[in-house]
Amino acid sequence: MPSSLAVAPIPILSDNYAWRLREAETGAVAVVDPADVEAVTAWLEQDGGRLDLVLLTHHHDDHIAGAEEVARRYGARIVGAAQDAHRLPPLDVAVSPGDTVTLGGTTASVIDTPGHTRGHISFFFADGPILFCGDTLFSLGCGRLMEGDAAEMWGSLQRLAQLPDDTLVCCGHEYTQSNARFALTVDPDNRDLQARAEEVASLRALGTPTLPVRLGQERVTNPFLGARDAAALAVLRSGKDSFQ
Ligand code: ZN
Ligand code: FE
Repeated sequence: MPSSLAVAPIPILSDNYAWRLREAETGAVAVVDPADVEAVTAWLEQDGGRLDLVLLTHHHDDHIAGAEEVARRYGARIVGAAQDAHRLPPLDVAVSPGDTVTLGGTTASVIDTPGHTRGHISFFFADGPILFCGDTLFSLGCGRLMEGDAAEMWGSLQRLAQLPDDTLVCCGHEYTQSNARFALTVDPDNRDLQARAEEVASLRALGTPTLPVRLGQERVTNPFLGARDAAALAVLRSGKDSFQ
């Protein structure tokens, strides 16, 4: 029987999300990219004060800064990419694409998602289904190409696009509203996108997160996820880079 998972965003820093995931059968808890010790521990304390795993998607400070301290406080293990072990906090579990990570009665598979950085990984819990994709796929957008190129990012998005429609996409930033403005310039007649942009505007007016979002929703609204090839993605990404 699939185990039941509960996921929630923890807003941190200016526009980042750390994520909290709890597995019901055993009560095991993971956090993803806990870059703010105070905010993340406050959430954990409200909710039983348990932490088993810290999952890291990539080496940027706004994702890893608090990881070591949070893990030490709760005796949790830190999981990150073996390829990036030299620039991540000390890893208890160094993983590679294709590996699995166990949280209580459930497992995540590690997906190779370079493009924003080399060594960027995502975690997919099929029992959710829930995806933690850091700065690879955003709602209505994708991460900047800081170390990788458009071909790598396109390949990463293609891998994520194979996941089920009902996958809850949990990404690293609240960029959805600005992504919506750009997406509407490239796909102005898309009704699904127009509706999502309106929904996003009302959520943000209330200060409510626009995430997680279903992958099936992204499939029909996100121009980056729909890019036909790496060249098309490169055009979109450079358009977004210079978009005001
Ligand atoms: Zn980043
Ligand atoms: Fe980031």
